[in-house]
Amino acid sequence: MEKRFPGGKRLRLVVGDITRVHADAIVNAANSSLAGGGGVDGAIHRAGGPSLMRELDRIRAQTGGCPTGSAVVTTAGNLPARFVFHAVGPVYRGGRHNEAELLACCHRTCLSMAEERDLRVVSFPAISTGVYGYPVEAAAPVALAAARAHLEREGNCVQEIVFVLYDQATYDAFARALEPR
Ligand code: ADP
Repeated sequence: MEKRFPGGKRLRLVVGDITRVHADAIVNAANSSLAGGGGVDGAIHRAGGPSLMRELDRIRAQTGGCPTGSAVVTTAGNLPARFVFHAVGPVYRGGRHNEAELLACCHRTCLSMAEERDLRVVSFPAISTGVYGYPVEAAAPVALAAARAHLEREGNCVQEIVFVLYDQATYDAFARALEPR
């Protein structure tokens, strides 16, 4: 599914493995210790190779990690991208602990990092909707609103935002949020 914006910019939803989709920057759903984990993070480190963790080790040594709602950048190793933005989404604790703002902030941070590097294509997984327990019906509109706002802003460099959703149910929830009936 695809939505077009002025200037030929596009927001796309696809079902797939984010490690196999070409982009200038691939966003990872990391944790605040930047220590590596399962889910999409495990897949990104396996496909990207050990250079990602070496770079994260250096960042961790300097900063102690990454706060929730923010992101750090590494190169992309063997992934089909130039950069990986390791974003830390919120753990879902019922919805009244600032989860939506933190999730939105994660997306906005990654998109600003893309602008700082003059990137055109950025791919996102469904951050926080796995182990972190954010219901996908609630996460999808937040993620999409951040993406939309970025694509609607004139003068931005990012031309295409792709949400690479691992299963059909996640894709369907994003599709419903993008085109509510
Ligand atoms: P979090 O801890 O932020 O919840 P997870 O990795 O547990 O992160 O899950 C986030 C989302 O990423 C889930 O929807 C999960 O199904 C999905 N996912 C897992 N592996 C991949 C992959 N290779 N490509 C894209 N999405 C993936």
